[in-house]
Amino acid sequence: MRIDKLLANMGYGTRKEVKKILKSGVVRIDAQPVKDAKTHVDPEQQEVTVFGEAVEYKEFIYLMMNKPQGLISATEDQNDTTVIDILQPEDSIFEPFPVGRLDKDTEGLLLITNDGKLTHQLLSPKKDVGKRYYALIDGEVTEDDVLAFQAGVTLDDGYKTKPAELTILQSGEESEIELVITEGKFHQVKRMFESVGKTVTYLKRMSMAGLELDEDLEPGEYRELNDEEINFLY
Ligand code: URA
Repeated sequence: MRIDKLLANMGYGTRKEVKKILKSGVVRIDAQPVKDAKTHVDPEQQEVTVFGEAVEYKEFIYLMMNKPQGLISATEDQNDTTVIDILQPEDSIFEPFPVGRLDKDTEGLLLITNDGKLTHQLLSPKKDVGKRYYALIDGEVTEDDVLAFQAGVTLDDGYKTKPAELTILQSGEESEIELVITEGKFHQVKRMFESVGKTVTYLKRMSMAGLELDEDLEPGEYRELNDEEINFLY
């Protein structure tokens, strides 16, 4: 890759700004000064330094966000703030995107990355990736609902859902449940409860593909995944 692209990707400025930095002679590849922006570099094999400081190159970024209510799971939106808008500049320069969507009023685990291959794997309907949700339900959730979700329910558009595991944590006028689904249809959890005559009043995603939401993350906070978590997802 070109040295100017690498430095721009790593947050050293725009391609134009990076050209200036290069011209000033402070960039070295394997200890050799380079001034030409077109110079090719292999970041895996060669050491790049700026002002003598090693540039740590990475191609992909993997973030876990505890999405708060009120944000849109998209890269941009004309009217609302998106989950990408609240990232720090050093993270947004990687041009990451959310892995799937949570509704504006849904909280919880949202993965954000620029790794298209992993995103594809996690969202592929063939892979049956499990997602666990915690929800509050207006109405009494019953054992019949558990059996209905296990068998698959028919949504308002006629789609029959795959088997889903419903656990009743507390049942009453307002019920508390956990639900594991392996699909990601639009408003799926809300529509599944609608199909049995109940309304979801609060929804939070607790895990995806076996990766649990970090309890230390307050809504709106995020952190990078560690190597173990990335390997686990792959
Ligand atoms: N199901 C929903 O209804 N909404 C979400 O945000 C996620 C799953």
